[in-house]
Amino acid sequence: MKSWIASANHPENHFPLLNLPYGVFSRDGEAPRCGVAIGDCVADLAVLEQAGLISAGPARVFGAPALNDFMALGAAAWDAMRARLTALLTEGGDDALRGDAALRARVLAPMADVKMHLPFRVAGYTDFYSGKHHASNVGIMFRGAENALPPNWLSIPIAYNGRASTVVVSGTEIRRPLGQIKPSGQDLPVFSPSRRLDIELEMGAVVGLPTAMGAPITVAEAEEKIFGYVLLNDWSARDIQAWEYQPLGPFQAKVFGTSISPWVVTKAALAPFRVAAPARERPLLAYLAEPGPMLFDIQLEILMQPEGAARPSVISRTNARELYFSAPQQLAHHAIGGCKMETGDLLGSGTISGPTKDSRGSLLELSWGGAEPLTLETGETRTFIEDGDTLTLTGWAQGPDYRIGFGECTGKILPALPVDGWEAGRG
Ligand code: MN
Repeated sequence: MKSWIASANHPENHFPLLNLPYGVFSRDGEAPRCGVAIGDCVADLAVLEQAGLISAGPARVFGAPALNDFMALGAAAWDAMRARLTALLTEGGDDALRGDAALRARVLAPMADVKMHLPFRVAGYTDFYSGKHHASNVGIMFRGAENALPPNWLSIPIAYNGRASTVVVSGTEIRRPLGQIKPSGQDLPVFSPSRRLDIELEMGAVVGLPTAMGAPITVAEAEEKIFGYVLLNDWSARDIQAWEYQPLGPFQAKVFGTSISPWVVTKAALAPFRVAAPARERPLLAYLAEPGPMLFDIQLEILMQPEGAARPSVISRTNARELYFSAPQQLAHHAIGGCKMETGDLLGSGTISGPTKDSRGSLLELSWGGAEPLTLETGETRTFIEDGDTLTLTGWAQGPDYRIGFGECTGKILPALPVDGWEAGRG
């Protein structure tokens, strides 16, 4: 099945006809509205809706600067829109867009000419810890190989409640955080910029349909409520985290920024790439049982580019199938105790590390706590992130002659604000 937009038919393009991810964009300073990615173009869904070529229901939804209204319509509307957009963009399909040059000019914009925005209003952000290799590596570093996984890990999709307010779209610069850190060998903390600034390579699941407070759901019901997936970088200040995390978990170490990719890849696009979870090392409680394969075979990469470097270096390659708990399991677990889940809730998967050294999803693991510096392709070395470094996540599901891509999730680290004034007691 080919698109009449030629770039969409290239085997390595992230946005072929079979993908059709949704996002929010603007061009020429106009108001942000919803769009769909096709090849190297963005199709303006607000214009298509106004022109009467698409309709998601009685009310218009795509002129909004967020996908939430569309996400809240549920699976029948999502499937119908996918079918309609496919017809409009397929070579030999419905000619209403392709055959109207004036409309085409208003609908299609080169991706290079648009500004991408946060694709949905983030209602809440919960960060899970469902990567077993990651949890094991961190456990070995901090507690020793004997106690690598906490006793609850194989039973519970562990998580903490993060901050929706600092979830930002790819491209947003991130300021190195200030906070309390306790230098090794000292008993008391100092106030300092983080010296161990890190990334976490994760997938983000985007909740489309809400749940009611006090109303648990099954894993199968949770699956129906998920609209799609993004790449997610859970920026982490390891030194702030190490001092603050007991007994309530991460706080300041994780609240200064969480980056997501601008395109939400739908469940439908990922359907051919479903894979079963790894063998269970301990039977799961029945409420977490999966009715079918709920993980996805998605190839993932981390790239690092120091300021002024000619090119980025790939520092890790892994796969989303390495996760131990799926997003529907996480969502069911989230709601099982009565928590109300909302349209626009974002679930971070947990850092996705593979079994080998070059497939680890954080610098903490890649440099083994800073003990084993990485050498980049440009000859520079790194343990943690330095000011001016740009970190990029990318990923795609590989089909026979096409990719269901996520594009990029990128961010550059800005220097910390000066600490002097704060140390002198400035309020
Ligand atoms: Mn995380």
